[in-house]
Amino acid sequence: MSQRKHEPNALRQISTLLIDMDGVLYRGQERLPGARDFLTSIVEEKVPFILATNNSTLTPEQYVDKLAVMGIEVTEDRILTSGQASALYLSQVASSAARVYAIGEDGLLSALNEQGFRLTDRDVEYVVVGMDRQLTWDKLRVATLAIRAGATFIGTNPDTTLPTEEGLVPGNGAGLAALEAATGISPLIIGKPQPTLLTLAMEKLGVTREGTVIIGDRLETDILGGKNAGITTVLVLSGITQAAELPGSSYQPDFVFENIDHFHRAWREQRTG
Ligand SMILES: [Mg+2]
Repeated sequence: MSQRKHEPNALRQISTLLIDMDGVLYRGQERLPGARDFLTSIVEEKVPFILATNNSTLTPEQYVDKLAVMGIEVTEDRILTSGQASALYLSQVASSAARVYAIGEDGLLSALNEQGFRLTDRDVEYVVVGMDRQLTWDKLRVATLAIRAGATFIGTNPDTTLPTEEGLVPGNGAGLAALEAATGISPLIIGKPQPTLLTLAMEKLGVTREGTVIIGDRLETDILGGKNAGITTVLVLSGITQAAELPGSSYQPDFVFENIDHFHRAWREQRTG
């Protein structure tokens, strides 16, 4: 399977790449076919790219290490997590003196610190919620009271579940749902399928939507996110979404490939051919 409803040379217009990681470059700890060659080529050819993930638990440094173990070399500035994007977004809408309560792990907390935000549980103006494997009723209590008292409610990403070896376990969306139930207020979501993470990635690269593509493995986050951000979408079938799900979907990716290797070959052929 390759591309849908496009001119044979449509891939040629692609000049900037926003790339999801899990299910595209690796699955668990296992590197996917062609991922290393693909990253090596785009670094060598100086193609503008960002590795954009809805996962807010890790810092860019931790992602660089994770990729390095799989033989993929990238620099920290190539990583944009939903935790960083949330902190960046907050830095655009709030003063650095704003009082922020955060639920989350290293990735989110250090991103907020880097943007100069003071984390507190008193007189809170913004509640930012990311995946937290140490989530407690007490954290939900503080967040609920703050949101009910008028604090702005922000969620890093809406993923309700997380695939693990044991099966699906609660993702950040499950924690957000608890807060939504307790407050009657829906969070502003930064990660995919909302456009903010992808828009901030383009800002970081200094590019426009023209020629920018999102490559991802999940129809309801990556592809819908790309559509919401107004960019070209490439679905790879090496992760969550299966080809059989496409006919039943109300929106379609611009291109579909088996994996990143097949995308890479087709794109290279059209650019050089
Ligand atoms: Mg993915």
